Amino acid sequence: MRIALVDCLAAGRVGRRLSSVDVIGSGPRLVVGILKSLGVEVELFECSDVVEGRVGLGGFDVLMVSGMSSDIASMVSTLRRWGGRGPAVAGGPACTDYEELLRYGFTAVVWGEAELSLPKLVKGLTSGDLGGVPNVIYRDGERVVSRVRPGYAVEPLLWSFQPDVESVRRYRYYWASRVYVEVVRGCSNFFRTTLPLPLLGGGRCTGCGVCRSGDLEARLGCPLGIPPGCGYCLVPVLYGPARSRPVAKVVEEVEGLVKLGVRRVVLSAPDFLDYGRDWLVRPRPLTDPREPPANLDAIEELLNSLHSIGRVARGEVYVMVENVKPNLVTEEVAKLLGRYLRGTTVNVGLESGDPEHHVALGRPSTVEEVLRAVHLLREAGLRPYVYAIHGLPGESWRTVRNTIKVLRRAYRLGAERVILYRFRPLRATAFEGYPEPRPGDPRGLALRRFVESLERRSKRRLLGEVIRVAVVDRYGREGYYVGYTLPHGPVVVVRSGEDLVGRVVNVRVVEVGAREVYGVPSGD
Ligand code: SF4
Repeated sequence: MRIALVDCLAAGRVGRRLSSVDVIGSGPRLVVGILKSLGVEVELFECSDVVEGRVGLGGFDVLMVSGMSSDIASMVSTLRRWGGRGPAVAGGPACTDYEELLRYGFTAVVWGEAELSLPKLVKGLTSGDLGGVPNVIYRDGERVVSRVRPGYAVEPLLWSFQPDVESVRRYRYYWASRVYVEVVRGCSNFFRTTLPLPLLGGGRCTGCGVCRSGDLEARLGCPLGIPPGCGYCLVPVLYGPARSRPVAKVVEEVEGLVKLGVRRVVLSAPDFLDYGRDWLVRPRPLTDPREPPANLDAIEELLNSLHSIGRVARGEVYVMVENVKPNLVTEEVAKLLGRYLRGTTVNVGLESGDPEHHVALGRPSTVEEVLRAVHLLREAGLRPYVYAIHGLPGESWRTVRNTIKVLRRAYRLGAERVILYRFRPLRATAFEGYPEPRPGDPRGLALRRFVESLERRSKRRLLGEVIRVAVVDRYGREGYYVGYTLPHGPVVVVRSGEDLVGRVVNVRVVEVGAREVYGVPSGD
């Protein structure tokens, strides 16, 4: 069996990334790794290559497509390119939209973690009988059959497969991209939102206390069936409580990527500071986002081992982390991160700056903890990016005013950027059934204008600075090139008389645009 796996993650409606252009997710490489270890021949493709017709899918027996809910249009465009020449399977976070995916013609949808389904799915696709495949949803005539059962992958199955390293080369700009390497699966936040919920007919949490102070095992469920975690988030629903990947497996993968020329590695985790916390409570599940505190020994062992890789130690390869939960950031934690990750970015979720709203969303932290985390991380030499969401359930003018105030404080405390997302009511989350914010909503506009003004200020700080840029391609006009800031920053357009493609160069920033910055090569 030959499988074509198409990565549509973040490809949106048009089949190509318009934001996070330099990100390579960890999921598709893991699927390739699992399939290869099952003896299946598999090739990975970027969505844009398939949708724009640069590669054909002839010669394959099965199509697999990975994406998020916001990528369904691109997943369907890929399916059209496939043209029904064999079974087509959808996976990734878009699995919660399985009805839509099946209606468009996908044969089956894999729910959540690939390890649980793929070994039997391969046999099921060969025999044409998906009845025995765990965690898949498929159509049987007019009927939609779901084989999804509660639960999550545990060792020895979990971490028994290594993501494929070689297929990173299938991404055109892999050498310059931020390549995500999974270090934690799932999230420890099993708190739940206390806002009224459409899925309960407008009812809400009764405050029984189980998910906030109960036994760790008991926190997996809520007597009312409210999905765990922040109300807008899918992670605990799809991927379960936080489980840490053994150091040796992470190091082996990073070594492989570095050998192939990858220069930027992001240690991917819904919360990097969950790393090793699960080992402190096992065999119970880590469903408490606050206790125990961060496992400093485990984090140090991981970061130290990664910094023992020659090119990382010499500063030729950057290692970064993805997100941290603000409530787990203490002075000691920040200092430890600063020792290994100085000069790199780290994401901190605020979402709402209104103290009551923040907690009611199901956040594990308080607003003051977010601000303290930003301050400590900055002091330790990291570059915090703070995230907010507009249009959330429970949003009011009061919450928006407070969010603006807190973002301003965060910026003064050293947040390098503040980033605003628009709320999307994802299926299977607690906020399913809430409306999306209307375009032109005045509260959303107020937040957006404020964030854009901060963005302009933070970009203007770059004027005259010299930054390292990995130049990946030509940019329209003759003599213009596009590249990515190292270790992380805005996309850069460079004007130069000589060919810069494939090189890492110093660039002096001479102009800032809405999304990118412009510069010229600098000898400094
Ligand atoms: S378990 Fe459910 S009802 Fe109890 S506190 Fe948590 S969300 Fe509320």
